[in-house]
Amino acid sequence: MNIQNYINGQYANPLNNEWLDNYCPSNGDIYGQIPNSSKEDIELAYQAAKEAFQTWSQTTPEERSRILIKISELLEQNLERFAEAESKDNGKPVSLANTVDIPRAASNFRFFGNAITQFASESHESVGQDAINYTLRQPIGVVGCISPWNLPLYLFTWKIAPAIAAGNCVVAKPSEVTPMTAYLLGEICTKAGLPKGVLNIVHGLGTTTGQAIVEHPEIKAISFTGGTTTGAHIARTAAPMFKKLSLELGGKNPNLIFADCDYEDMLNTTVRSSFANQGQICLCGSRIFVEAGIYKRFKADFIAKVKTLKVGHPSKSDTNIGALVSKPHLEKVLGYIERAEEENNTILCGGKKVSVAGFENGYYLEPTVIEVTSNECNTNQEEIFGPVVTIMPFSTEDEALKIANDVKYGLSAALWTNNLKRTMRLSAKLQVGIVWVNTWMLRDLRTPFGGMKASGVGREGGFEALRFFTEAKNVCIKY
Ligand code: NAD
Repeated sequence: MNIQNYINGQYANPLNNEWLDNYCPSNGDIYGQIPNSSKEDIELAYQAAKEAFQTWSQTTPEERSRILIKISELLEQNLERFAEAESKDNGKPVSLANTVDIPRAASNFRFFGNAITQFASESHESVGQDAINYTLRQPIGVVGCISPWNLPLYLFTWKIAPAIAAGNCVVAKPSEVTPMTAYLLGEICTKAGLPKGVLNIVHGLGTTTGQAIVEHPEIKAISFTGGTTTGAHIARTAAPMFKKLSLELGGKNPNLIFADCDYEDMLNTTVRSSFANQGQICLCGSRIFVEAGIYKRFKADFIAKVKTLKVGHPSKSDTNIGALVSKPHLEKVLGYIERAEEENNTILCGGKKVSVAGFENGYYLEPTVIEVTSNECNTNQEEIFGPVVTIMPFSTEDEALKIANDVKYGLSAALWTNNLKRTMRLSAKLQVGIVWVNTWMLRDLRTPFGGMKASGVGREGGFEALRFFTEAKNVCIKY
């Protein structure tokens, strides 16, 4: 199926008529083409957004809310169609797209549709000076949203929904690896009555189409989710133009498991936090550190459970692990496994490609557990972003904290303990944006989301996202 850009409320071919192949990860087939858009398409999208901003920025929060909630309802009504498209494009099990990706995309629109009606500005009475200060929260104008391939519609809409809720108009680019659900979203937006030009979706490569969004002098803010290297490049490009940036980048998240935790709950959740979405979630716990006293038991039980995970075609209901997103990505992950062996780490299970009967050209990989002897090895320092985790014992709380923090990333951590004082101590000292205690990936959209260190700059989620997508202006009136 060939897809098109969605500009000014209409589907259109790229102006240069250049196309890229779109691969299906579960069988390796090319199943369609996508626009390889140029900076001229971005200019067209920008002009449409600029024009739409004249009226969209003047609508009431209630009017915008009504349209966002309608988009959410239409996504829910089209759940199956979107979930199947997401699975085909990304390789993830349909059961995951059905229960997580698409419902969450719908929630993003519903949440920000509601949140904008509650987004109040502050006022401060300057006592003794006969003055009152109040803050105007004004939309920025035309903003850029750029998203990755691992949670395609989920993350695309996580940016778009707050941007348009706050009264901005958007030029957005999904990953060229997974463009399908973003393409389908255009039709839903039109049906929901979103005025033309408010959302423009342009497909193409990061280095050309994405770069043209970041380089556009009139696109004043960029919300980006993707790799740390790309984030650094975007920051360098945007800096001379003083663009507002939100960067949600890579992770190498620690799981700290203490002997006093609820063991079964920890074990089941740790399998999920390791391999959900083929381990391709920035929040996956890819470094597992276990208190020495339960290390042997954990190692045996964890491997036994991992070996029961079924790698299979994403459409099968008993599939736990689908295909990795692309051939280059599969090769990259296999390269990390090879290097782990060269570093004298031990592959405890997995590590090999899987041939799924009938789909031999798909990008399947066994869930892989590697035992490392030091946190300093590359295997524990570099983001692998696949179904690969490491395990290692620790002796004391201080040691656990040190190795957890001893990495350039700082996105999230999972802490397993029933000791309240330890929970409070470690939560305060872990250098991450999100700490989960005795759980993983429990998300509440009102909370701030983002990372420290090389995992990013800024926070999204809740009112943080609405703050990002608005300019705060202080007005001081002397009376
Ligand atoms: P990527 O950085 O290669 O690409 C992300 C997006 O940026 C794509 O749409 C791509 O086309 C675009 N892009 C690439 N070069 C660009 C440029 N020069 N200018 C503008 N846009 C450009 O990342 P990916 O491989 O798609 O995604 C995987 C990465 O995303 C992992 O590192 C993962 O940890 C990270 N991620 C982070 C979060 C988070 O919330 N922190 C969430 C999901 C994924």
